[in-house]
Amino acid sequence: MATYDVSGRSAIVTGAGSGIGRAIALRLADSGAAVIVNDLDGDHAQSVVAEITDAGGRAEASVGDVTDAAWIDSSVEAADRLAPLRIAVNNAGIGGASALIGEYPDDSWARVIDINLNSIFHGMKRQLPAIAANGGGAIVNIASILGSVGFANSSAYVTAKHGVVGLTKNAALEYADQGVRVNSVGPGFIKTPLIDASLDDAAQQFLVGMHPLGRLGEPDEVAHLVAFLASDGASFITGSYHLVDGGYTAR
Ligand code: NAP
Repeated sequence: MATYDVSGRSAIVTGAGSGIGRAIALRLADSGAAVIVNDLDGDHAQSVVAEITDAGGRAEASVGDVTDAAWIDSSVEAADRLAPLRIAVNNAGIGGASALIGEYPDDSWARVIDINLNSIFHGMKRQLPAIAANGGGAIVNIASILGSVGFANSSAYVTAKHGVVGLTKNAALEYADQGVRVNSVGPGFIKTPLIDASLDDAAQQFLVGMHPLGRLGEPDEVAHLVAFLASDGASFITGSYHLVDGGYTAR
């Protein structure tokens, strides 16, 4: 399996206790980074830390909510204690309610925008200057295919993910001269607990048919792209939105 050299640096991965975030944390650790494994759930975070350390890597759990300013500060400080913070992957996200806009619950709208979009703005406010002060590095924000196309009954999620793509472009423009590259990644539908919790078997089968490769993606297929973007191999890539979607948006 390919690895991407990110040794000698630390990486924050949010929502890393499960699904795509877990796969990203494992792959960055396997590629040499010391990883801050964030999650809301301490047991989930600890179990990913154990997977990394059992495999000979370095990691530390950082339990907290990505919408909490105090947690954001503490994650940057914890990362810098492990090794210079040079990588951040803003991955934590939720699906939200499924409803027409006319019936969309206000509390779900606010929560999805807060976790999926506002937290990335607040996170990058601390991560960008910290990474720049360490000599530069890379941020990868996890958007979705729904950062470029709509999906009925998911207005909050679609809006937040389109916002992530735009915010990423601006961050890239603003910090290019300080050596920080910022990209977003748009996964198609990936087999994770989020998908299993929100879609029944029939819905998942329908979605399989929407991907020309004829299946849902695996978390590690997203993690490979993220690790590449975080590495120096992607040194001329910034401000762009990278799909890993089995052909979903090619239709
Ligand atoms: P997942 O399996 O549910 O994992 C998300 C993780 O984020 C969970 O461990 C969750 O913790 C954590 N989390 C949620 N809210 C948080 C918060 N406020 N602070 C800290 N951690 C929080 O979901 P996933 O499918 O891997 O999704 C990861 C990212 O990929 C999300 O941004 C999602 O929108 C995006 N994405 C997923 C797909 C897909 O098909 N799966 C497709 C495109 C994009 P708990 O479990 O403890 O709540």
